[in-house]
Amino acid sequence: YLLQLYQPLNIFGFVYRGIKESLNDMEKMFDLLNVEREVQDKPGAQPLHAAGGEVRFEDVRFAYDARRPILQGISFTIPAGKTVAVVGPTGAGKSTLSRLLYRFYDATGGRILVDGQDVRDVTQSSLRAAIGIVPQDTVLFNDTIRYNIAYGRPGATQGELDRVVSAAQIRNFIASLPDGWDTMVGERGLKLSGGEKQRVAIARTLLKDPPILILDEATSALDTHTEREIQAALRDASRGRTTLVIAHRLSTVVDADEIIVLEAGRIVERGAHAALLAMGGAYAALWAKQQDVNGNGAKAAETVAAD
Ligand code: ADP
Repeated sequence: YLLQLYQPLNIFGFVYRGIKESLNDMEKMFDLLNVEREVQDKPGAQPLHAAGGEVRFEDVRFAYDARRPILQGISFTIPAGKTVAVVGPTGAGKSTLSRLLYRFYDATGGRILVDGQDVRDVTQSSLRAAIGIVPQDTVLFNDTIRYNIAYGRPGATQGELDRVVSAAQIRNFIASLPDGWDTMVGERGLKLSGGEKQRVAIARTLLKDPPILILDEATSALDTHTEREIQAALRDASRGRTTLVIAHRLSTVVDADEIIVLEAGRIVERGAHAALLAMGGAYAALWAKQQDVNGNGAKAAETVAAD
């Protein structure tokens, strides 16, 4: 019994080696353990045949707790290679959409299809191999920056590493470190800023080279320069990949093929940036509010005019 308990902990101990052991992280770890036990491959599950990576949510319903529905009938399609951004107030269920796509949980109603295949019918390993996540908070291992990036695809060549760190706009940063690629990072090494960690995550994901990308935008504000660099890196990363952007701010959504406004688990508006602004509804209100917070209303007016 003790051994049973110890083994999964040991595995996660390895994965989580390097995370600051705050209570929050411990909770996340146990969450993950529970989730891993909940969602299992069907007997005889086949590997996903990923083609272009079309993602389709069909009347998806979900509740973490049956007494409190979170998603209440969500339908949208991300055509292969296109970008859909989800915006809306905190708690609307945005991140939950990405958790369902990655199959941390199963929908309680409706279905999610990747290239026409129900995510519940394919092996989790093949599904997760087809999806890259750039999370809000990237976990760094207490190891070298090389290890932390190559983790996206062990065995990658130096040429491949150089290419992805250039695309992720972190090449100069690595070159500026005294020990370069061999610099120790993480809690016991060099502590990277939020923006640097996010670029490590982008490089990792580019190395993994999945057809589908989930970008869970950071909630915390970055300085303008960093923000621009990251945006450029994200644009690069999402080119040619089916991309789901979970936008906690509105900075990455302007160019999305479709923007979905989620409120209390329902889609209340959808469309492209300019059309949604012109509608003067929920999206326009969110946009106006964000400009106030940023205190750059003038810049927003320019952007709107340019559209
Ligand atoms: P958003 O990303 O839009 O801020 P989330 O998808 O993270 O929203 O969360 C939607 C709702 O689900 C919130 O009310 C949140 O409290 C709840 N929730 C999120 N994760 C869990 C969980 N693991 N267990 C129970 N409730 C959760």
